[in-house]
Amino acid sequence: MSTVVLDNVSKVYPGGYLAVDRMNLRAENGEFLVLLGPSGCGKSTLLRMIAGLEEVTSGDLWLGGTLANDLAPRDRDVAMVFQNGALYPHRTVRGNMAFPLEIAKADPAMVRERVTELSKALHIDETLERRPGTLSGGQRQRVAMGRAIVRQPSLFLMDEPLSNLDAGMRTELRMEISSLVRSLGVTTVYVTHDQVEALTLADRIAIMNRGVLQDLGTPGQVYNDPATAFTAAFLSSQQLNLLAATVRTPQNQFILLDFGVHQITIPWTDPRAYAISQHVGRQIIVGLRPDCLAPVPETFEGPVFLGRVRALEYHGHEWLAYVESGIPTVPVPEPPDPRHKARDLAATAPGSRARAVLRRLIPGAGLDPAPIQAQEQVGAGTHRRADLIVRVGSRPVWRAGEPARVGVDVTRLMLFALDGSRIDPPHR
Ligand code: ADP
Repeated sequence: MSTVVLDNVSKVYPGGYLAVDRMNLRAENGEFLVLLGPSGCGKSTLLRMIAGLEEVTSGDLWLGGTLANDLAPRDRDVAMVFQNGALYPHRTVRGNMAFPLEIAKADPAMVRERVTELSKALHIDETLERRPGTLSGGQRQRVAMGRAIVRQPSLFLMDEPLSNLDAGMRTELRMEISSLVRSLGVTTVYVTHDQVEALTLADRIAIMNRGVLQDLGTPGQVYNDPATAFTAAFLSSQQLNLLAATVRTPQNQFILLDFGVHQITIPWTDPRAYAISQHVGRQIIVGLRPDCLAPVPETFEGPVFLGRVRALEYHGHEWLAYVESGIPTVPVPEPPDPRHKARDLAATAPGSRARAVLRRLIPGAGLDPAPIQAQEQVGAGTHRRADLIVRVGSRPVWRAGEPARVGVDVTRLMLFALDGSRIDPPHR
């Protein structure tokens, strides 16, 4: 078993692309840690640095308490599973699974027994004498998994191992990976862009965007109590409503979130009140999942947004309504573009070796850091009038064109500064 510690780790590709930006992360002994984020956010780069397949540009990587930046891949005691299985085509299933033990010159009788036993656990014992070309995608991934597990490494690294499979097979193998890996108790770092996979598999999830860590916590923490607007939006199964509001405290009686055409009050007794009051007179972003909004009758006395139903959408188990309310919405705040940030890193990286490497990789690294566009401008400059997305339930109580009275569950408002960070600190 092994811990993985990333201390300020960055990766710059030649040409100056900052794929991983000053990442701090720790996977505990036996933990199942999922790296989640959109395509191109740097997940695989991070995993490949842990495996030793990519060099760490700056910062320190520790494996099991040993500084591993310069450790050869074979000396890291890690096993990796890739998206496409990557099996030896001329070896049988048994030959593929036995390979890591044969290389390690293990006793052939032990190898035979171990492979047979593992193939049963993976439900591929019927295929042991077949070649990979005759297997289904799901079976091939099971063999790849078996080959990784067979020699019981200190660390499993899995890079989207299920993404080439169809939905049914994905669900089945997901459950099996979870129980198998947990029964072995081996530390696992698992890369995916699929939020359901992350939520169902992980002990903790690290969410990344543009090379920057956005959040780190248990599935419950990052879903219910996200640290950033990006995390909230990425984990929302329906599009998250992100609304621009100005914070006011009229006569100090309560906090007013002023959406222009609508207002919502928050009493001073609300646990978030003090944190919000630090933003008086400024604009913030209010995040609301569609299921925090609902059609309410005239008699409803809680906070409401009024509008007009523009369209209704049937989703099988529920209806969603698109409501014109006149409230300005904002796009999800994102970290600055990684193409422009590397020069900043080159100027600030600790240690002369890291700085020298960065200067070699980044065009113009000797110059002043590139100006980074302030997030304040991004949030403030791009308001657009869009619809509120409201979960209507299993029956469409509204019709398109009708006035809509939308009740707001104030306890579930998520409050973000314009750079996307949470205003009231998340609990971790
Ligand atoms: P993810 O796994 O999240 O999809 P990657 O780690 O594969 O993302 O890539 C992160 C970014 O780094 C992408 O923009 C990608 O184009 C870039 N990148 C990956 N590998 C290289 C490389 N060898 N040279 C230059 N850029 C690369």
